[in-house]
Amino acid sequence: MKFREFKDILYSFTDIYPLKEHYDFYVKWLEKGFHGKMKYMERRKKRKSLENLFPEAKSCLSIGIPYYNEFEFKEYRISKYAFFIDYHLTIKEKLKEFLKKYNIQGKIYIDTGAILERSFAQKTGIGFTGKNTNFIFFKRGSYFFLAEIILPFEPRGLKNEGNKNFCGKCRKCIDKCPTGAIREDFTLDARKCISYLTIEYKGIIPEDLREKMGNWIFGCDVCQEVCPWNKNPQRYEPEFLKPNYEIFNFSLEDFLKLKENEFKKVSKKTPFERTGYINFIRNCIICAGNTDPDKYKKILKEFENSENKVLKIHSKWALKRSSR
Ligand code: SF4
Ligand code: SF4
Repeated sequence: MKFREFKDILYSFTDIYPLKEHYDFYVKWLEKGFHGKMKYMERRKKRKSLENLFPEAKSCLSIGIPYYNEFEFKEYRISKYAFFIDYHLTIKEKLKEFLKKYNIQGKIYIDTGAILERSFAQKTGIGFTGKNTNFIFFKRGSYFFLAEIILPFEPRGLKNEGNKNFCGKCRKCIDKCPTGAIREDFTLDARKCISYLTIEYKGIIPEDLREKMGNWIFGCDVCQEVCPWNKNPQRYEPEFLKPNYEIFNFSLEDFLKLKENEFKKVSKKTPFERTGYINFIRNCIICAGNTDPDKYKKILKEFENSENKVLKIHSKWALKRSSR
């Protein structure tokens, strides 16, 4: 079955087993501890076959939803996917509607379940997993959300191919990654990755990585930006993804001044909710230290006197970079 397209959304079916190479690779990655504190990544058995998640599983519908957009800010940077309301919610809603409309029993996964998502997408033959570990769609690049629906039936002509890599000799993502998180052997050391540090990692960020984080306050797109497969990206903003216009009004200073209850309100149902108040402000403090610590000196000094250790330590570091 060919990969199909519906209003820029790509989809195709494959069987219920991830590529063996991907599974073995994932196990080795875990053994090296590259997943950092993401304990949920350790659910190995579940990742071996979709039957372990859904006993009736017979096939997997792999789906790619494009999100490339041109929203940008001058003072700080946010990963492009985060300009929308939490995609787990919006995409799930859309896929539920689809299942209901066609009266199909299926199990939906969007980035949260114990599934080797890229492996299923790759088996359909529509693209490959790059050295930067992003899934890259041929001709369309990597600015896509991946989702799956596990189905209790097997459509004709399942695709089970795509076990190749098309990076060739390119190593742009390896050379340009600000923290050196991408390794030659196609693995990514999440512990050094700015996306992991700004979104998943709670607490004090190792000092040697702070400067390298530059002005990224939530996620990082550098390894996608430099990838030749993303040359001339086209804007795709499916309406159901819902751009989060509220955050477009925030300057770095506005973020730094947010109180916890205000942050909760602003971040509700957005990707920022996952990071939480303290860690989000920590990211903004690092950005202030890396961009213009003199401009934010007053507020950094307030954080320096904070009861919270994370805010205190990072603001001290940022202030050291100012002319005091
Ligand atoms: S997201 Fe950024 S820090 Fe992480 S691997 Fe890509 S370029 Fe490196
Ligand atoms: S930048 Fe080059 S090496 Fe990295 S994922 Fe893209 S094609 Fe592959």
